[in-house]
Amino acid sequence: MLNLKLSVGFIGAGNIAEAMISGLTKVEKTIQIRVTNHTNNERLQQLASNYNVLAASFEELVNNSRVLIIAVKPKNVKDVIKQLSNYDLGDKLIISVAAGVPMKLFNSYLPGAAVIRAMPNTSTTVLHSMTGLVRGENVTSEQAEIGEQIFSAVGKILWIPEEKMNALTAISGSGPAYFYLFIESLILAGVQLGLSEKEAEMLVLETSIGAGKMIAESDKTPGRLRKEVTSPNGTTYAAINIFMEEKLAETVVKATKACAERSEEME
Ligand code: NAP
Repeated sequence: MLNLKLSVGFIGAGNIAEAMISGLTKVEKTIQIRVTNHTNNERLQQLASNYNVLAASFEELVNNSRVLIIAVKPKNVKDVIKQLSNYDLGDKLIISVAAGVPMKLFNSYLPGAAVIRAMPNTSTTVLHSMTGLVRGENVTSEQAEIGEQIFSAVGKILWIPEEKMNALTAISGSGPAYFYLFIESLILAGVQLGLSEKEAEMLVLETSIGAGKMIAESDKTPGRLRKEVTSPNGTTYAAINIFMEEKLAETVVKATKACAERSEEME
């Protein structure tokens, strides 16, 4: 459970802010959440009414939040940091979820501020995010624990050194999208094999959930589980052979490298 008096402000009201807010408000009824954005008041009102959080101005949010979560696009982070530099941040904890924005940017504009870099994913909504955390040099043990508690409430966490953040972004930050793409492709394949879209969707979605649960609940590795459903020269074997021949693993490595490089370019 989180500290009951914890007040958290989201600067940025987009996809990841909503994913975190929807997850946090499911498990932490007493946490006080404020949210602000740049231009879109309608969006703030929508979040306020859907999740019972407070729509706030930037100033109101900064003055009343112990934890400030920066959830704007990487290109907008500098503007937010510059705005924050006009405030006395005292013992506030800043958590940035922006991909590729390095700790040194915060240190140069907000010297002395306590900053954690975090990379959650959108599965925070269903309390299954995998979040990477990087601890800035001014973060106290109590603040580190607060950061840990926020993200543990919506999934699992892993503290890592900053140089591994781009790799983590490429695997778990963007990871849900890779699985969605595979699921979309399998639905398409089902339709091409003669199933209706509805039938294909039902088969694929339930199969994905089942495979995820097997991975979570069985003590076998994914490789072992795969081998157990792949009898030599059987039906699954015929399909797996094509994935191997078409070098699925190499494609995945290439794709994640492109993601990590993109994060690096943003630094
Ligand atoms: P998004 O949906 O485009 O939302 C961005 C939000 O930032 C909008 O509400 C925008 O407000 C607001 N904003 C822009 N400039 C601002 C400013 N100066 N002050 C206050 N608010 C401002 O983006 P997103 O997908 O949520 O991504 C946000 C960040 O999360 C990115 O840095 C991304 O790297 C990171 N992230 C995303 C994911 C993911 O799966 N989506 C996962 C992990 C991390 P207006 O609409 O009013 O302009």
